[in-house]
Amino acid sequence: MTATLIDGKAFAVTVRGKVAEHVARLVADHGITPGLAVVLVGEDPASQVYVRSKGKQTVEVGMASFEHKLPADTSEADLLALVQRLNADPAVHGILVQLPLPKHLDESLVINAIDPAKDVDGFHISNVGLLATGQKSMVPCTPLGCLMLLRDHLGSLSGKDAVVIGRSNIVGKPMAQLLLGDSCTVTIAHSRTRDLADVVRQADIVIAAVGRPEMVPGDWIKPGATVIDVGINRIERDGKTVLVGDVDFASCAAVAGAITPVPGGVGPMTIACLLANTVTACCRANGLPEPE
Ligand code: NDP
Repeated sequence: MTATLIDGKAFAVTVRGKVAEHVARLVADHGITPGLAVVLVGEDPASQVYVRSKGKQTVEVGMASFEHKLPADTSEADLLALVQRLNADPAVHGILVQLPLPKHLDESLVINAIDPAKDVDGFHISNVGLLATGQKSMVPCTPLGCLMLLRDHLGSLSGKDAVVIGRSNIVGKPMAQLLLGDSCTVTIAHSRTRDLADVVRQADIVIAAVGRPEMVPGDWIKPGATVIDVGINRIERDGKTVLVGDVDFASCAAVAGAITPVPGGVGPMTIACLLANTVTACCRANGLPEPE
């Protein structure tokens, strides 16, 4: 391996530490405790793990955690009524509805019912539009975490060629917007992209957000490029379930200048950014200076 390892786990500890300091100041100076409400509908095992982890880390940084676990057959009307209650609750500064929702619920309808100022996932169409037009918004946590790692490692991203593989609303598209905002020349690739290998070979920065285990091989990577692997894929290997990313770590690490591991790369940054967004939402709601 020649690449520098980008340690998202360690960086997330630093981010959470700063969040905890800011929370302590809000409590001490203003008597305000930031609060995050997480809504989970149904029993999807991966979602249960994420929600548990979010609740635990919320409490660890000194914030209030409100968990709402609803049965899988919850009606849309009941879910929307809960969202409205959370919108109106002054103790709740951030609201996250864990996706995916059961099939009978309209995700867009539910997400767009969240008060955009409390939409700490940044998925509300108002926040999507604000981000796209370069205005102050709530920024989706996973792309924000990737951007933080890139800035920390590379400094200025201005003028760099970036390829984002994946065009989902939660990762690929907002990632591309953030890179554009930092003056990268951005290409968004997807399942219909022709000559993906050649497209990726042009990039100084490669973001893989595909959901296909180890899809990107080392010979697609320009020597010295920075590779950010968003993928979280559970596969069976040697009779064990292991987590792997969307890039083939060993071959990519032999060519890249820097690379994130899976696990321990982007994953821990996502929750850290969720906590940071909640503090930001709390400060904005109270007219207080936001964390940097
Ligand atoms: P989606 O399934 O919503 O999107 C996947 C994207 O990859 C689509 O745009 C799709 O293209 C594209 N794609 C699929 N196959 C290919 C291919 N062969 N070549 C090129 N592009 C392809 O996934 P998400 O964006 O939600 O998630 C992506 C990955 O990131 C997953 O592994 C997920 O688990 C992980 N993830 C990790 C998070 C973290 O905290 N680290 C948070 C969120 C997601 P098309 O649009 O044409 O179908």
